[in-house]
Amino acid sequence: MKPQTRLLHVDRDAGSPNGELHAPVSRNIAYHYDRCADIEQVFQGRMKGYTYGRQANPTVAALERKITLLEEGTDTAAFATGMGAISAMLFALLKAGDHVVASSFLFGNTRSLFESFGRFGVDVSFVDATDVGQVAAVVNDRTRLVFVETIANPRTQVADLKAIGALCGEAGLLYVVDNTMTTPSLFKPATLGAGFVVNSLSKYMAGHGACLGGSLTDTGRFDWSRFDNILDVYRSQPAPSQGLHQVRKKGLRDMGSTLSPDSANLVALGLETLNLRMERISTNALALARFLSAHDGIHKVHYPGLSEHREHARAAELFGAFSGLMSFELAEHVDLHRFIDGLQAFACSSNLGDNRSLLIPVASTIFHEMGPQKRREMGIADQLIRLSVGLEAVDDLCEDVGKAIELATV
Ligand SMILES: *Cc1c(COP(=O)(O)O)cnc(C)c1O
Repeated sequence: MKPQTRLLHVDRDAGSPNGELHAPVSRNIAYHYDRCADIEQVFQGRMKGYTYGRQANPTVAALERKITLLEEGTDTAAFATGMGAISAMLFALLKAGDHVVASSFLFGNTRSLFESFGRFGVDVSFVDATDVGQVAAVVNDRTRLVFVETIANPRTQVADLKAIGALCGEAGLLYVVDNTMTTPSLFKPATLGAGFVVNSLSKYMAGHGACLGGSLTDTGRFDWSRFDNILDVYRSQPAPSQGLHQVRKKGLRDMGSTLSPDSANLVALGLETLNLRMERISTNALALARFLSAHDGIHKVHYPGLSEHREHARAAELFGAFSGLMSFELAEHVDLHRFIDGLQAFACSSNLGDNRSLLIPVASTIFHEMGPQKRREMGIADQLIRLSVGLEAVDDLCEDVGKAIELATV
């Protein structure tokens, strides 16, 4: 059966105590054992069981099973946020002297996190990941992992996902793909050799924007027996589970970015409609991108679904549909503040991946900190607006944008 079918029955299959169709929310943090020997077995990893809520919880585990299913992985660990997942992974798997390769088109906070690891002696190369040649050029014998996103925010560059996967396979490198923008509904990084898949559950995965969450899925594609930084104490685990096991222990347990059971439940409810939402969001976004690119109040539109996008063919081959993120530059004669304030069907907000259409001017907000020169280098124009398209009726979206441009034309 397809993942969408199994997703809707996986709680039932896992066996809930009272026959609940949804995994119940278990807010409990401590567990008792009738036999002292049993808690010893659990601590020693020889019996399954829960010990303390920071490390594992049944409601969170039910969500992890669903994400594993959707990503076609072997196991998933969930975290309080997407950043919690990424930082736990890097903290658990890297040490001073290691080298990592990261895309230069990263979510800003992820880039900031990599820069922090630089202060602790991890050497980071940021390269243009739309070109595998740039990744290959910096790999050396200290390289431990390659980290890329699928569709970059806000300029929508699409990484050379297939070729980088092949490169990592040949070089024995851990390939980590942040799938937040595409979600497993449009793309499964496991199929191109990713060893770990990151998802921010706060975005499309939940969709409602009512809670935060993050996840890290092991795809089973990476040979952990070849990863130098697995600690001796975790080498006793079966080789396929060593990586995520160490992330759970050294990352989740020691750093404590634990997902709450209530948030896990909210994400799980959102996930049930992920496929439907991603289809609708993608068709809405494509229609709106076409409308904008034909409008003389708009200077330029960046959306992988448009045939003039540099990586359009790659995105079409890998994703089939193009998700909801785009950015566009207003023409000089359109006033940015008047345009945004004139919209009714879009909210001005810094989030993305929401069921509602959200937009934000880029240069003066999310890219403000880096200053004008770096923005110019990164192609962030002053009139650039990031737009995350939602589930509204697309005719309403086009009409609203058209009216707002008219109001803002000076
Ligand atoms: C939002 C986002 C994250 C971080 O997720 P949070 O849940 O906000 O911590 C990571 N990667 C990408 C691509 C994102 O868009």
